[in-house]
Amino acid sequence: MELIFLGYPGSGKGTQAGLLSERYNIPKISTGDILRAAVIAKTDLGVKAKEFMDRGELVADDIIIGLVVQRIAEPDSVRGFILDGFPRTIHQAQELDRVFLDLKRRLLAVISLEIEKKKVIGRLTSRRVCAKCGKLYNLQTEPPPVDNKCDNCGGKVYQRSDDEPETVLHRMEVYEQQTQPLKDYYGMQGKLLQVDGSLNVEKVQSEILKRLRMLVEPRI
Ligand code: AMP
Repeated sequence: MELIFLGYPGSGKGTQAGLLSERYNIPKISTGDILRAAVIAKTDLGVKAKEFMDRGELVADDIIIGLVVQRIAEPDSVRGFILDGFPRTIHQAQELDRVFLDLKRRLLAVISLEIEKKKVIGRLTSRRVCAKCGKLYNLQTEPPPVDNKCDNCGGKVYQRSDDEPETVLHRMEVYEQQTQPLKDYYGMQGKLLQVDGSLNVEKVQSEILKRLRMLVEPRI
């Protein structure tokens, strides 16, 4: 099963993709997570990507496409995968179509999480994350422990530099200009599933599952 998530940064793509990944036992491939790990490890890729990420700009298409091609060639992707944060430009989507064709894989659906911009801005600026295990916290709804030590793994809980208010606004613009056109791109392929992303995590997940079941077992 091959799936793509679309939606504003902070719309819940990572959370929903993670839940589907556990349910179907296929990997969630998050280009943002891969890049952040490379930044922490100070690899060549990380050094190149960091300045773009810190400014809320997109990293060059060819770098990202190379990463994804490599990742989906790994054995755990044989039964399928869920892309979170990729593709983000029309060019990336076209390249992905080509890769699917070469590998004889079929994209099942593109799940677009629909949510108002002002809601995601609030979510992102109050988001905190564990540097070690990636557990998400939220200053309002699930505050990090007082000593900022993750209660899951003991790692350091911090604010992503691109979750600071100015960068968040810029990431929204980048999304609207470069990524939102993908809704039409996949709409024309008949692949787009639009789901209300403003509901709580469980409700969004159950709506996604309902829509996926309708695709896999269509009603007569
Ligand atoms: P995310 O965690 O998906 O919000 O990604 C964080 C940052 O990583 C983005 O703001 C970009 O700088 C970079 N990034 C992640 N995915 C991509 C992509 N598909 N194309 C270009 N840049 C990306």
